Amino acid sequence: MADVHFDRVALIGIGLIGSSIARDIKALGLANEIVVSTRSPETLKRAEELQLGSHYTTSAAEAVQGADLVIVSVPVGASGTVAEQIAAHLKPGAIVTDVGSTKASVIAQMTPHMPPGVHFIPGHPLAGTEKSGPDAGFTGLFQGRWCIFTPLPDTDGEALSRLKAFWEALGSRVDEMDPEHHDKVLAIVSHLPHIIAYNIVGTADDLETVTESEVIKYSASGFRDFTRLAASDPTMWRDVCLHNKDAILEMLARFSEDLAYLQRAIRWGEGDKLFDLFARTRAVRRSIIEAGQDVDTPDFGRHSLDKKP
Ligand code: NAP
Repeated sequence: MADVHFDRVALIGIGLIGSSIARDIKALGLANEIVVSTRSPETLKRAEELQLGSHYTTSAAEAVQGADLVIVSVPVGASGTVAEQIAAHLKPGAIVTDVGSTKASVIAQMTPHMPPGVHFIPGHPLAGTEKSGPDAGFTGLFQGRWCIFTPLPDTDGEALSRLKAFWEALGSRVDEMDPEHHDKVLAIVSHLPHIIAYNIVGTADDLETVTESEVIKYSASGFRDFTRLAASDPTMWRDVCLHNKDAILEMLARFSEDLAYLQRAIRWGEGDKLFDLFARTRAVRRSIIEAGQDVDTPDFGRHSLDKKP
């Protein structure tokens, strides 16, 4: 069984994901020291107030010195710059990983900077919320959620086992994929849903015939479910779109074709086609619940809100 305890962990980026990892490491006693690093003094101060680590610095280079495990949790577009900043200061034998939502681009940005003797293992926990910043994190975020690793051809097996064991200690289920496949899968299960949500909420916001107050007032009819996704961090999602461009465009092309089919069925009154599709999609929802990836309650505590007069 791989050793899940690290002497010194450096967390580069302490937003929703970084701070959730910090909280879990503390709660589970997985490290002797947690060095917290973030670029802005404001976020660093907040992390210190929340007591997320044992040392605090705005210098990523300083943070990684002597660290056995380095976890980079910044927007994917910033991974190359961070890798460049930390490269010369990494401890030989250290494990460096990330949590970025795209993998091929992060690998292309970070790998060239990684010195020999350092184990760079790209990762992506499929867990999160629409909130950001150190206050948004919480213990148990990764419980029961998948963490996908996209190891490089020369990844050290022992380091990978150790990192997997660490994420399993955080409650994750671990999986491996090649980076391109990861990016395709995530394009459909995560990136497209967010883009569709951003688009529909933007459309509603632009409509002139329905006033904004009506959109808000009657939102419980379905619209509000899209607004949760559309409230996600703009920087993070700008970067995801720019850094998984090919897979997203491929999925968007498929989506547009299928939407045209639906549009045609509505126009020509083809009720059977509509019914067949809606029955198929309802079965997908059932499978997600059976797989333990959601619960069959109306939704996230809104039940009580709906009961209010
Ligand atoms: P977040 O809450 O917005 O926190 C971002 C962190 O990155 C902050 O510490 C921020 O520092 C720092 N940062 C922002 N821009 C930077 C830059 N240009 N250079 C260096 N540092 C920068 O973000 P998050 O939700 O934790 O996401 C972090 C990573 O996790 C992203 O790669 C995202 O794709 C991935 N991810 C997110 C989710 C999710 O649901 N949110 C799920 C899985 C994976 P300052 O505050 O000091 O500026």
